[in-house]
Amino acid sequence: MTDTHPLPPGSTIGILGGGQLGRMLALAAARLGMKTHIFCPDPQSPAFEVTPHKTVAAYDDEAALAAFADAVDVITYEFENVPAATAAFLATRKPLRPGANALAISQDRLAEKAFLTGANIAVTPYRAVTSLADLEEALVELGTPAVLKTTRMGYDGKGQRLIRERAEAESAFAALAPKPLVLEAFVPFEKEISVVVARNSHGDARAFDPAENVHRDHILHTSTVPASIAEATATEAVWVAEEIVEKLGYVGLLGVEFFVLPSGRLLVNEIAPRVHNSGHWTEAVCVTDQFEQHIRAVLNWPLGDPSRLADVVMENLIGDEVHGVIGQLGPGVAPHLYGKAEARPGRKMGHINRVAVKTTRK
Ligand code: AMP
Repeated sequence: MTDTHPLPPGSTIGILGGGQLGRMLALAAARLGMKTHIFCPDPQSPAFEVTPHKTVAAYDDEAALAAFADAVDVITYEFENVPAATAAFLATRKPLRPGANALAISQDRLAEKAFLTGANIAVTPYRAVTSLADLEEALVELGTPAVLKTTRMGYDGKGQRLIRERAEAESAFAALAPKPLVLEAFVPFEKEISVVVARNSHGDARAFDPAENVHRDHILHTSTVPASIAEATATEAVWVAEEIVEKLGYVGLLGVEFFVLPSGRLLVNEIAPRVHNSGHWTEAVCVTDQFEQHIRAVLNWPLGDPSRLADVVMENLIGDEVHGVIGQLGPGVAPHLYGKAEARPGRKMGHINRVAVKTTRK
């Protein structure tokens, strides 16, 4: 039976993962009078700087996990690759929100596509690939170009190979095998958008406006809201996101990434059972931002108001870009830095929200 009992202020939320998302969740929880306890193997985790309660241990350290579970009232996470055994171990001790089912589905591209297809939600045409022969057959069926991906642990373009023609099959397979793979048809999308949606234990679901996302070197560069898409496309994207959390019986916040075809048709690229980089704009222009919304859902509180009060462009600060932040400050500019010591290439160091007067939609 679903536990719908709201946790009171002063409760402790355990967060698996100590990156910037964990840090921003801890900050949002503190605003609601909550304590947070971060569990992360990396002693340099940015989230450790915003709460005194931490565990530095491996995700398979059962003694550390048991002590962590004892110290908290509810457990959530900031990344989808929490090992299944860790999630199962913790879930027997304290409520885990979102649940282990959402984690299992979103950790595996094939499980995710099967779930979405079963829910009548359109995804990129795909085939499972476990051998070179599978790949060659899938390339005949789906055509070229196509994208070969590992089914697990891929992010920011890692674990992917674009196959332009069939002659490239062998080298792409060699680069990613023996991991289980999936071949996707290459989608000639016009835009990429995402919807961040939350659902609580009472079944109340609320979505933020769709964001239009631009990637650079496979890493999110900007999220612009409102997205320049037709009203009907925006409505459908929100409907699909709400349908996904409903079908999952989900509690917490979920990011849904879509490809928008030139016809306006939507295909779901992937889902992430956590706060999402393409939702960072909400902190500058929404009554309730994505971090507070996730915390509210995890606490069994009523969800907040996701209304957007202004137009906004969120820009990620990657690597050395963070050093230029002071020069970019001006009217309507809200910076958020993650406190990471070393600005390595490709590392997300912070983001900037550029806020402008509201022009369109809702
Ligand atoms: P992913 O890790 O699946 O989110 O892929 C990262 C990025 O690669 C996406 O945001 C797209 O820009 C691009 N991409 C991934 N899969 C495809 C595809 N099947 N067709 C076209 N572009 C893709």
